[in-house]
Amino acid sequence: MVSKLQQTKATCGYTHSPVLPVCGTCAHFRSEMQPVAWMAQDIATKGEVSVYGVGVFKRVEDLPDNLRKETGLRCGLLGFAVKKMGACKTSWVPRP
Ligand code: SF4
Repeated sequence: MVSKLQQTKATCGYTHSPVLPVCGTCAHFRSEMQPVAWMAQDIATKGEVSVYGVGVFKRVEDLPDNLRKETGLRCGLLGFAVKKMGACKTSWVPRP
């Protein structure tokens, strides 16, 4: 049996995790993940970087995202710098 509150939630389309129409969820959003500087330097000079409790990495591409910082945030369609929580009124397209 569906309660009245559950029915109301279903009717209004309530969701705990909405996809907000901001740059960070837009298909046109572009950015690069850069390693923390000392990690990139270690890989370049020592051939690997050892991160305590995480592992040893020989290539920048292998570093997990939480050990990299996101840079170069921009709109791939309109060509200007954006913030993830920024938005425009005309061109937002949800990521596939
Ligand atoms: S400016 Fe508009 S089109 Fe560009 S990434 Fe942001 S929401 Fe998407």
